Amino acid sequence: MNIYFISPHFDDAVWSSAGRMRLFRELGYSVTVITVFSQYSSYIRPNENLAALKLLDVESICLGYKEASLRDFDGVALYAKEHELLSADINIHDIPLIKKIADDLNSLITISDLVNVPIGNSPHVDHKIVTRATANLNTKNVLWFEEFPYPLLCQYESKHYKSVEIDIDSWVNASLQYTSQIYNLFSSENIFASLLKRFSRKYIPKSEKLFFDRLWFDINNTSAYEYIFNEVVQSEYS
Ligand SMILES: [Zn+2]
Repeated sequence: MNIYFISPHFDDAVWSSAGRMRLFRELGYSVTVITVFSQYSSYIRPNENLAALKLLDVESICLGYKEASLRDFDGVALYAKEHELLSADINIHDIPLIKKIADDLNSLITISDLVNVPIGNSPHVDHKIVTRATANLNTKNVLWFEEFPYPLLCQYESKHYKSVEIDIDSWVNASLQYTSQIYNLFSSENIFASLLKRFSRKYIPKSEKLFFDRLWFDINNTSAYEYIFNEVVQSEYS
């Protein structure tokens, strides 16, 4: 069994769930991050990603799609204004992209693999596309992760989570490799690290020293969750 993480952009999967990646590696599983929108005009972000994944001893696959701000139809930008990236519905010219991405993912993933996918709490149009593209994967072994730093906006009627204790230092250290985005979005490494720690113990505020990842699973299909929890969880917190 291989374990995959589907990351809309560089940084999403590591920021959201590097603690879980580390846990799976310690159990001896092969872990690969598949980045969907990985085409940029410079090497800064790809290099940051490689540095983070190297720290986690995790493999990288890039699907090579352009991120939303670079996509056009006949020369006209699909999402011309920056705020549209975080509020727009999926442009009609992007609809074929959903199936293409799904086909790419299913050409890599087999029925016995375990796949970690974004839960869909980001308003970014690229994240919405990935949520749609991961709705019907080859495998039913799916766990969801919450997308940091976006807030969890709603409850998920068909999903529930279990918290697992994780190593916060490796999570933070790997996440800090994405320097360019950290300074763009959070202005300093300290602010970023404290927000990530708060994210990690959001539902368990009394635990000052312990940090967690919430593994979301489908309540109607608990095979992925049971498989992992039989191996991973010594104690449950939720
Ligand atoms: Zn993203």
